[in-house]
Amino acid sequence: MKKRLEMLEQLQEIDLQLDALKNSQNGLYGEINGIEQGLDASREELAGLETRVAQLEREKGELEVALATEQENTRRSESHMKEIKTNKEFQAIGREITAARKQAAELEEQILQKIGQIEELKGEIAARSASLAELEQNTEERRQEKLAEIAAVQQGIEADMARRAEITAHLPASLLKRYNSLREQRRGQAIAFARDGYCLGCNMNLPPQLYNSLFRGDDIISCPHCQRVLILKQQQ
Ligand SMILES: [Zn+2]
Repeated sequence: MKKRLEMLEQLQEIDLQLDALKNSQNGLYGEINGIEQGLDASREELAGLETRVAQLEREKGELEVALATEQENTRRSESHMKEIKTNKEFQAIGREITAARKQAAELEEQILQKIGQIEELKGEIAARSASLAELEQNTEERRQEKLAEIAAVQQGIEADMARRAEITAHLPASLLKRYNSLREQRRGQAIAFARDGYCLGCNMNLPPQLYNSLFRGDDIISCPHCQRVLILKQQQ
């Protein structure tokens, strides 16, 4: 029976180590997600700028169509001028031409503004594309580093799993079941050390008779308070 307690103690040690290794693996996967999210955000930002440029190009196109219309109106009015007979008609067409030219000048001004905005955004897109390419490169390197760390942790996990399998092969199924359900109920700790009449798992006083029976080391004894399997650890 003493052998069983030793095996349980080893099993607990391995399982706690496995818990830590799995946690660190999860943490590494979380870091990879974080790195990739940063990259996604940069890509979205760049796509947003490109959408904005496309929108400005469309607006510029519409202004150019409107400008062509005004220019055509001016030309038509100018050719009407030749057929004019009265001063009144002359003045009316003159007003039309003035209005169309004014409108055309405004449209040209707006088109220039759009061109300026488009050029500015294209400059920003070029700069951001360059830094995105750099970020992609960095991200890939960091991702590979994290994957290598995950693989190294995985080796540790597999080594522990092999040691665990060796131990569990020698323990009765009922005891393993009890151990596993205790681990679930007691935040991973199925085994508790007992010292000076106390259970160190829950810090409660153990009944003297129960504590004394631990010295025989020949039985699986549970703490009456936290139900963990007790292993005597006297101060050395
Ligand atoms: Zn206890």
